[in-house]
Amino acid sequence: MKTCFKCKIDKSIDNYENDNIICIDCHSKRLDYLKNEAENNLNKNVNCVYCIKCLVNNRVYIGSASNFVKRLIAHKNQLQSGIHKAKLMQDDFNKYGLLNFDFYIIEHNILNYIDREYELINEYKVNYELYNINTGKTRISKQKRGLL
Ligand SMILES: [Zn+2]
Repeated sequence: MKTCFKCKIDKSIDNYENDNIICIDCHSKRLDYLKNEAENNLNKNVNCVYCIKCLVNNRVYIGSASNFVKRLIAHKNQLQSGIHKAKLMQDDFNKYGLLNFDFYIIEHNILNYIDREYELINEYKVNYELYNINTGKTRISKQKRGLL
């Protein structure tokens, strides 16, 4: 018999894998927990509105995505290849480099992120110079659906 470190129950050696100090039951619960935790973290950024900001001149690009990390990688790849459609942002990126840009989520878990993106673009317009080319609601929507 051996006392499980986690559930504190005395169990026969058959309930332990190798020299583990926690029993097989506790071990698999832990694995499930870690798996869920990883999935929750991946899902945290679902439907978000994000911002790319040039730290030198405070110009911003507002966008929305269902997967921020994926979108972020796409933006970075385009900028580093010099082919980003937001010409002004590409120019500043060439001038100042990656380290002078900040990438962050403004809001996440938004039900309708296209509407919210449109609202936030209009809010940010007041105080910031935008990199965005398309700021109209229909244009954003069409762009998302790959029609533009
Ligand atoms: Zn246990």
